[in-house]
Amino acid sequence: MSRLDDGIIGILACPADHASLDYDGVAEELVCTRCATVYEVRDGIPVLLPDPSAGPC
Ligand SMILES: [Zn+2]
Repeated sequence: MSRLDDGIIGILACPADHASLDYDGVAEELVCTRCATVYEVRDGIPVLLPDPSAGPC
């Protein structure tokens, strides 16, 4: 039982546009309902970075 619970998902928002996120329990990813950006979940903790593929500056 390490899945994200609905309470946590309800308070999360996309950092880019503050839209709500959908949780994909199969891929264990969060997907923005507006811009469709995918955020990974590591060990039950969502990693809400605006653009994970951009890497560090
Ligand atoms: Zn978004």
